[in-house]
Amino acid sequence: MSWKSIVGHEHQLRVLKTALGADRLAHAYLFAGPEGSGKETVAFELAKILNCRNSSDLPGEGSCGECESCRQADRLMHPNIEYLFPVEAALLETIDPSKKENKKLTEARERYEALLDEKRKNPFFTPAMERSMGILTEQVVMLQQKASLAPRDGGKKVFIISQAERLHPTAANKLLKLLEEPPAHVVFILVSSRPESVLPTIRSRCQLLVFARPKPAEIEAWIARRAPQLDDAERRFIVSISRSNLADALELLEAETGDGAAPAVVGIRNKAIDYLRNILVPAKFHEAIGACEELSKSSTRTEQLIFLDSLLLFFQDVTRRAIDTDFPELNNPDIAESTNRFVKAFPNRDLYRASTVIEEAMRSINRNASVLLVMAGLTAELRGILQGKR
Ligand SMILES: [Zn+2]
Repeated sequence: MSWKSIVGHEHQLRVLKTALGADRLAHAYLFAGPEGSGKETVAFELAKILNCRNSSDLPGEGSCGECESCRQADRLMHPNIEYLFPVEAALLETIDPSKKENKKLTEARERYEALLDEKRKNPFFTPAMERSMGILTEQVVMLQQKASLAPRDGGKKVFIISQAERLHPTAANKLLKLLEEPPAHVVFILVSSRPESVLPTIRSRCQLLVFARPKPAEIEAWIARRAPQLDDAERRFIVSISRSNLADALELLEAETGDGAAPAVVGIRNKAIDYLRNILVPAKFHEAIGACEELSKSSTRTEQLIFLDSLLLFFQDVTRRAIDTDFPELNNPDIAESTNRFVKAFPNRDLYRASTVIEEAMRSINRNASVLLVMAGLTAELRGILQGKR
């Protein structure tokens, strides 16, 4: 990793580079921005630079990504970098030495480690334990202890607090004490997608840096570097279906077959478009029903949701082309012809209603309803709407 590996955020990187160059880094930052915008990857890069053994040789380049320090940071095991996120109370219970084993603690640790593993694989992922009440007081007490110790190997301590809006009130007050008298060798980076919910007294002690989702072109360029075998249309579709959320985009890329074939998502999209065609041709309606059966039997919930989401993205393209026949930025540029044909064949169809029933079907699937029943109902409704009979 280096500054170059960050997706987008040119302005924010410039602010940090300038501060680093002038040795005027703030004691505490609040990185605010939507989920999956990659703000936490910037926090980690800053932490790496402050500890990298080769960073001074490469001004403006960022961390080297190769020294022992950088590798420890990538493994989330750097002694100077603390990473806090909401955990269960069971994880922090003091162990009763009279008991040989504490099953609750062991299981909580396993869940915690699984989240860290996910974070190592997907740096855009935002970990939080399901049964968590937030970032707990004990976690901040541990930070206080670590803050009092000098950093190792001439680096700087960096405390990254993910989902800072979820600091438990007592934990927040303890953190405030730390921020009021910050040790010179510590940089705090609070990260939040809901900065308005961070305690105002804490917010006022941090320098605010606001992030937005990277632009589609920036994400496409990143995908091209990561998966050069994909073509333009496939890249564009991954950006569209992830709604420019980098965590989701990376997950979709990873789900790819890896043998140079199109990623699974594009295949699912193609099936969804075929399904739509079959709904509209009376002689092929049974094939549409067949697709419902297949979807319910041999697809994961994620795949089922991608299937339906593909229809939403297609209708969005149809609506755009209906308004502007040359609309350039389609979700599905590779099937622009089909989109145009659909506009001509079905003018004035109520695509808003069609989208609403698809969204309702997605909610039902998320609530564990029978996929076959949901899909059968949806198919009948879509046919009615698209034929203009409803
Ligand atoms: Zn390094």
